[in-house]
Amino acid sequence: MMRVEETAASGDGDGRGNGGPDFGSAWARVKRRLRAELGEDVYASWFARLELETVSAGTARLTVPTRFLKSWIESHYLDRVLGIFRAEAEEIARIEVGVRGTAAPVRPAAPGAAKPSPVSGPLARLHAVGAPTPVAAIAPVAEARSAEAGDLSGTPLDARLTFASFVVGRSNNLAHAAAERVSRHQGEGALYNPLYLHAGVGLGKTHLLHGIGHAARESGRRVIYLTADRFMYGFVNALKTQSALAYKERLRGIDLLILDDVQFIQGKSIQAEFGHTINALIDAGRQVVVASDRPPTELEALDERVRSRLAGGLVVEIGTLDEQLRVSILSARLAAVRVAHPTFEVTPQVATYVARAITANGRDLEGAVNRLLAHATLTGTAVTMETAENAIRDLVKNREPKRIKIEDIQKLVASRYNVSRSDILSERRTAAVVKPRQIAMYLSKVLTLRSLPEIGRRFGGRDHTTVLHAVRKIEKQIGEDAVLGDEVELLKRMLQD
Ligand code: ADP
Ligand code: MG
Repeated sequence: MMRVEETAASGDGDGRGNGGPDFGSAWARVKRRLRAELGEDVYASWFARLELETVSAGTARLTVPTRFLKSWIESHYLDRVLGIFRAEAEEIARIEVGVRGTAAPVRPAAPGAAKPSPVSGPLARLHAVGAPTPVAAIAPVAEARSAEAGDLSGTPLDARLTFASFVVGRSNNLAHAAAERVSRHQGEGALYNPLYLHAGVGLGKTHLLHGIGHAARESGRRVIYLTADRFMYGFVNALKTQSALAYKERLRGIDLLILDDVQFIQGKSIQAEFGHTINALIDAGRQVVVASDRPPTELEALDERVRSRLAGGLVVEIGTLDEQLRVSILSARLAAVRVAHPTFEVTPQVATYVARAITANGRDLEGAVNRLLAHATLTGTAVTMETAENAIRDLVKNREPKRIKIEDIQKLVASRYNVSRSDILSERRTAAVVKPRQIAMYLSKVLTLRSLPEIGRRFGGRDHTTVLHAVRKIEKQIGEDAVLGDEVELLKRMLQD
């Protein structure tokens, strides 16, 4: 068995991710691309210790050492990692991120024979911290095909994401109606060109795009669905192998081009190619459908002409899900799950609780259903209100602002930076300890009503001027360093949740 190449920038020798030989090398390429696309700093902060644990039935299970990394990756990079992984191994339809357990030792790469069994090994821990899916056998999966030069096969459509499984409500009915019309349109010319859908994460953009793809294919049209990463990667490869012309010719020989997450399209030459492609297709009367997390005017990286071309068709926003829509999506999900798990029961009371509690997006609703299912299948017991509350606790936004304790700040910051709370309170002055200590002091100042001397006392009896120095320093660094700014912002949010 081949093992995953270690690509971690930190060189911590922790490269034991082992999803089977083919996915192992695909995963190594994914990490290389993440590093190339995001740069060394971002990569080292967030991805160096991200590992592939297993691949099962199209779901790749990735793990990180801390909950902090898990939520950061989930809230910022999930689509991107999925997009890149799919481009490398098209069998991957979903990814999940779990925590390896805080005390996991740094292990040498597992030799082939010593691969941990998914149930007793790391996955058991994964479930212990509330990760979503029940353990399934690791299916033997076809060899991961690498994206060939100029490959235009597109990203595969997910069979579950159809118009039939899309629940229509107030916030998405315009987007849905436009999507349906575009997918059914026959004959000369295109309808609204491009159709541009935008919305926050998890509100159904990708679902609608796949729905359009399925429906248009059924009516015999030549459809290509591409994530931004696939688009970029196809181009990069095509340009490298000097088959750009062939690539473009093929791209133009299609009826409907669907591009997901165009906000990720990066790089000057690729953005220019993106503009040419869109223009060529629209001028030739081919339908283009685009989704993004923001309106066209806010795609700052793109050329003004491209932006206005994107804005020149029909731009539709999908709004947040109201409670009724959440209830409907949830019951549709539950019904779908019950087909495979007939004994899985969720009382109307629990369903209502979940739909009320999880307000953010469809992805979290789906996550909640997976957790309830995991609970039911792993423990063999029925889902009660209490177990439901526990299972979805971290998906629930707490509405009342919480009183935040300095101790909790210290613990969270310590866990993020992989030091102990006593390191933070200690006299040690190494950079690895000083930075988290200063961040923790800063957060204590902005999130609690404690005075500087009081904060100093709680940080191992330090002077108030030390605290003030830390607060000023972090304030300044946040202003200068966007990555640190995001990081501190996320820590704040996690503490306030
Ligand atoms: P986006 O691409 O906007 O981030 P997705 O399309 O991936 O969001 O949706 C996230 C999850 O929520 C998916 O599982 C999707 O099927 C589900 N979902 C979102 N909106 C709806 C809806 N209106 N009906 C059914 N499922 C939905
Ligand atoms: Mg999406």
